[in-house]
Amino acid sequence: MSTHTPVVLAVANQKGGVAKTTTVASIGAALAELGQRVLLVDLDPQACLTFSLGIDPEDLDVSVHQVLTAGLAATEVIIETEEGVDVLPATIELARAEADLLTRTGREHVIKSVLEQLAEDLADDEDGPYDWVLLDCPPSLGVLTVAALTAADGVLIPLQCETLSHRGVGQLLDTVHDVRRFTNRGLEVWGVLPTLYDGRTNHARTVLETISDTYDLEVVEPPIPKTIKFAEAPAAGRSILATSRSSKGAKAYREVAANLVARAARPKPRRSAKKKRA
Ligand code: ADP
Ligand code: MG
Repeated sequence: MSTHTPVVLAVANQKGGVAKTTTVASIGAALAELGQRVLLVDLDPQACLTFSLGIDPEDLDVSVHQVLTAGLAATEVIIETEEGVDVLPATIELARAEADLLTRTGREHVIKSVLEQLAEDLADDEDGPYDWVLLDCPPSLGVLTVAALTAADGVLIPLQCETLSHRGVGQLLDTVHDVRRFTNRGLEVWGVLPTLYDGRTNHARTVLETISDTYDLEVVEPPIPKTIKFAEAPAAGRSILATSRSSKGAKAYREVAANLVARAARPKPRRSAKKKRA
């Protein structure tokens, strides 16, 4: 039995409208173009990711909600999409998950154990195991986001470079530190991804520099330009990589995806709990 484990990347920021979902859909499509086998997980009850992949959440009988709260196998729910990625879809039912999980023992580990079970179930699958799992987090630091961070190897923080955007980053990093302490020592911050970026303004660049300096965060390159093309993609049920193949935005996401593949291949920094004795 093969024991190939996917790279699990949480895309998180408790602020809404910073392009988390767009980033998950676009990087997912770009990774698929690179020949990677990709699963996207919709963890937002608004189900925007599910919808943007051409699936109407209202047509679904089961979703990630039953997988997380009722033990339904992920393989029973995962849908293949035209985008070349698979999705574990959400519906509005997921709005109940926070409350349903709140009193459960081990709730922080619920996504991690779902992914472990899935890897086992797919070990003999003809399509093989996933190379990447991207977790589209909801706009909060609640149970689902903490469970996503607990399941993740890395967290990518999409950030709209505007004046007050750094206030949320501190809170998110506090949560990351708690997750590292209590539920997932291996979690790494892969960095901030500048989104809705207007490089023509000095302002955007200054905000970005301030944030990466203040929090000592890597900036994942290149920034994703603000372009109207992104508004058209979700309604088409395809990502911008399909609807606008050679646009600046599609190119930027392809470059980011290639950089993430390189990052995943990088050996992990050695974490020395104790100082080495000479
Ligand atoms: P989040 O998941 O963080 O709430 P979304 O991915 O849903 O954010 O994006 C919020 C809105 O911004 C959507 O309408 C989306 O189409 C739009 N958007 C995302 N990225 C860009 C971009 N680079 N340029 C222009 N609009 C964008
Ligand atoms: Mg979203």
